Amino acid sequence: MIEMDCTCVQKHHQIPTEVIEVSDHAIEKTGEILKNYRRIFLVADENTYRVAGQRVEEILKEKGILSHTLVLPAPALPNAENIGKVLMEAGRDREVYDINAWSLNPDYILAVGSGSLNDTCRMVSYRLGIPYGVVGTAPSMDGYASVVAPLLNGRKKIVYNCSIARHIIIDLSINAAAPYPLLLSGVGDMIGKYIAILDWEISRDRNGEYYCEQIADMVLKATGQCIDSASALESRALPAIRAASEGLILSGECIAFCGSSRPASGTEHMIGQTWEVMDVEEGKVPNLHGIEVGEGTFTAIELFRKLCHETEDAHLRGLIEKYLPAFDRIDKLQSTLKIPFTVTDRQRYVDGILRGRTFRERYTILQYLYEQGKLEQYAQAVYEPVMEKYFHRAFKEQFPEWK
Ligand SMILES: [Zn+2]
Ligand SMILES: [Zn+2]
Repeated sequence: MIEMDCTCVQKHHQIPTEVIEVSDHAIEKTGEILKNYRRIFLVADENTYRVAGQRVEEILKEKGILSHTLVLPAPALPNAENIGKVLMEAGRDREVYDINAWSLNPDYILAVGSGSLNDTCRMVSYRLGIPYGVVGTAPSMDGYASVVAPLLNGRKKIVYNCSIARHIIIDLSINAAAPYPLLLSGVGDMIGKYIAILDWEISRDRNGEYYCEQIADMVLKATGQCIDSASALESRALPAIRAASEGLILSGECIAFCGSSRPASGTEHMIGQTWEVMDVEEGKVPNLHGIEVGEGTFTAIELFRKLCHETEDAHLRGLIEKYLPAFDRIDKLQSTLKIPFTVTDRQRYVDGILRGRTFRERYTILQYLYEQGKLEQYAQAVYEPVMEKYFHRAFKEQFPEWK
């Protein structure tokens, strides 16, 4: 269990995660970390099995604690079909079929992968009441320590409550070798935290919403470290990979501490996830989460800059002004990293902002602008500056082989 005392009204935060191991060659420690389990069900996809799953399987077998392995076809989206497959393959038949006995369930589910596999196993773990953990293969999103999973159900994306990982094992050498789009996705998911915390501060002051300063500070600190080192990601330098991995895990942890994704998800996620959902509704495979969130972050930055310039509310302006230096650092980072865009069509872009307001029940700058009767005007106005300042290449053009 990870816990901390706090000055906020909750007074104490805790999560049932037992071990977070982020180190070079961390997967070699998997057997030792999971030694108290006896029948571990390992789930990977073809890619993650190759880069980490096979080695983890050997280690668990040697230790005599592996039940069996399921390798899904890659890329394994967190959809109803894959969740069904993991569920069907989770139990083992007994040697002699006994009509009165249940099949043998594992005592632990180990996901080897990043966002999709983690979310898939998290759901099965929650439904079966079996603990799970993850050997992460890329610092691509902040869901390792999260408590919810956005899952694809037909043409809908639904966020479900799920288990939180008992063990998070991040091998830095494996993460450093992750495909480049996944590294960019991790940065995209991380830079958005400034927006999330600013939205949260605004709602605290306007609506009296619960706010935890300690959690907000932790998220901001991790985001700062991530941005400082992110320009070295292209060279795959281990300190940059470590900062990104730890920042993303910490952000997930803060979601769990808080009991809601408030500290890690605001305007940028609501817009980015709306674009994701638009793809899902059209029967397309959604883009990488963090790439959409990155584009949502650049959009939110321009919305805030415009509001800061125009508002007559001195308190609101003061809140936004605190974040302007961070926005400048994100501008600089984007000129180096060039996170690609997925939405460049004006109509789709504006629709994402308008629909994003009600993506979930959460007070953000989108709701504020809506109540002022200015949302549509702002959405139209930021399109050009965002495209001019932040757009370098479309994702599909930069990574045509990516599925
Ligand atoms: Zn607190
Ligand atoms: Zn995210």
